[in-house]
Amino acid sequence: MSEIADKDRLRALPSVDRLLREPGLGVLAGEFGHDNAVEAARFALEQARQEVRAGQPAPAMADLVGVTVARARSLWLPSLIPVVNATGVIVHTNLGRAPLSAAALAAVQSVAHGYSNLEYDLEAGERGSRHAHASALLARLTGAEAGMVVNNNASAVFLALSALAQGREVVVSRGQAVEIGGGFRIPDVLRQSGAKLVEVGTTNRTYLADYERALGSETALILRVHSSNFRVVGFVHEVDITEMAELGRQRGLPVLDDLGSGALLDSAQFGLAHEPMPQESVVAGASVVCFSGDKLLGGPQAGLIVGQRQYVERLRRHPLARAVRIDKMTLAALQATLLHYAKGEALREVPVWQMISTNAGQLRERVVGWAGSLAAAGIAASVATTAATVGGGALPGETLPSHALALGEGELARFGLTVEQALTNLRRSTPPVVARAERGELLLDARTVLPGQDETLLGALRQALGGR
Ligand SMILES: *Cc1c(COP(=O)(O)O)cnc(C)c1O
Repeated sequence: MSEIADKDRLRALPSVDRLLREPGLGVLAGEFGHDNAVEAARFALEQARQEVRAGQPAPAMADLVGVTVARARSLWLPSLIPVVNATGVIVHTNLGRAPLSAAALAAVQSVAHGYSNLEYDLEAGERGSRHAHASALLARLTGAEAGMVVNNNASAVFLALSALAQGREVVVSRGQAVEIGGGFRIPDVLRQSGAKLVEVGTTNRTYLADYERALGSETALILRVHSSNFRVVGFVHEVDITEMAELGRQRGLPVLDDLGSGALLDSAQFGLAHEPMPQESVVAGASVVCFSGDKLLGGPQAGLIVGQRQYVERLRRHPLARAVRIDKMTLAALQATLLHYAKGEALREVPVWQMISTNAGQLRERVVGWAGSLAAAGIAASVATTAATVGGGALPGETLPSHALALGEGELARFGLTVEQALTNLRRSTPPVVARAERGELLLDARTVLPGQDETLLGALRQALGGR
């Protein structure tokens, strides 16, 4: 392309004012504000100029209008929005982990809408502690002497290491000096907390004697990290938390147990492996036990800490506790979630446990219904047997039998789409639907589609296939 031709095509682009006078953009300033409309038009024109300079033809007016509207929307509308999770991964970290129960949501609303007794003792009429709202409940649920909550489990572990082991040694099995995900690596966290890592044993086998040999005058703490997101199989040996706690007791050293997910209900009752429970670590004698609020607990993002009073008190008094403190909305949601467990209604009320405990037969019936309603719209979908997972770095390799609506390559081709294009269209619908592709099929797994989202899902699918 010659430079002269480029210049002509650049000149052919409309001005900002001209573009904003296009019929499709008449309402833009009214809807999104004058400044946003101008900024959006400038953005569309700048993008067009770059395309022209790159040798492409000048975009049609309709395209400029489309880009301007999309940009204005993105300047005005929130980017954090709800999506439908049709992936079959229950605790999906990229999709916000655990959905909250109705009671947890209501608690957030009532506490955040006005003032609350967050740090106010209503009996005494004086300053109180925000920890009071979850500590006793958490301690009662796990059988621990004391509890506290912080921003997330990563900060719980960081706080515990900083408060109990700064400048001294932490003994951990080589097989547990791992990366949890999202850049959370145990050796790095230890270094940041000012503690020194002492690895014992080998990647696959660590014995009590390995720990015993490593303990010395510089040792501050024995650490156990649950291998939540991977599994070592074969020639493996780990020291269990009871033995570690006994060793700690003999040597007068605290034992910190990072459980990761932690489950207050037994996952084994649903055909899954047994995810370690905080109650078990407490009984075993661990000094401090940390776990997440938004994994298998099914609550908001939070770090839950339970254990022996003397150690939990040290964590509470440490200066970092203020930096990682939990906010009132989270605390409201967490307390409501914990109350479901206290009342024995968690299985019924906590969405994560509802999804885990739904039987596959019910899911199959639901998907058969979906396929039926699509058939009426001229779309031939089938019912596939799938394997859903817990996700969120819990129970790796464990699956729950599930069912998905399946659309094969052939059927999608009738609509002029590949599986990838159909997935993209689904992600672009309102609300977006996140599904998966497997063996050349588009799969929408029913286990993670919340009750009441069926029509939304089917509407998005019809739209994704071409506006039916
Ligand atoms: C998930 C996990 C963490 C981090 O918990 P967050 O609540 O995501 O901060 C820490 N340790 C283990 C073992 C985990 O599985």
